[in-house]
Amino acid sequence: MKPRIALIAHDKKKDDMITLAAQYLNFLQGCELMATGTTGGRLANELGLTIERKQSGPFGGDLQIGSQLVEGNIDCVIFLRDPMTPQPHEPDINALVRACDVHNVACATNLASAHLVLSQLQREAQDAA
Ligand code: PGA
Repeated sequence: MKPRIALIAHDKKKDDMITLAAQYLNFLQGCELMATGTTGGRLANELGLTIERKQSGPFGGDLQIGSQLVEGNIDCVIFLRDPMTPQPHEPDINALVRACDVHNVACATNLASAHLVLSQLQREAQDAA
């Protein structure tokens, strides 16, 4: 089964998300991707990725992704958070990260951990091929 990955980046981290996704583009093209609205729009427009786009984060996108995760439809979350800027939807962000912990789903919240998670998933996909 294709890895099902959720991608979310706060505004100041969106350029990092594009750069990260570009580095794993071949692998991500073979995944089922879900993203919050603006992050997903940029990934689709700039990298040509096919993505199921949810609402923008401040309008409930994190909660929609959390709901999918609770339903067992997400294998891993790449969530590039901005720790230096207050977010209006902080409760939603905490809810999504908590849902990852409750359901033991890998959740990378910074670039270093995102690289570790994606490189491992990529390796597993190559081994399975
Ligand atoms: P966005 O949402 O991708 O729609 O900007 C991300 C967020 O701010 O949580």
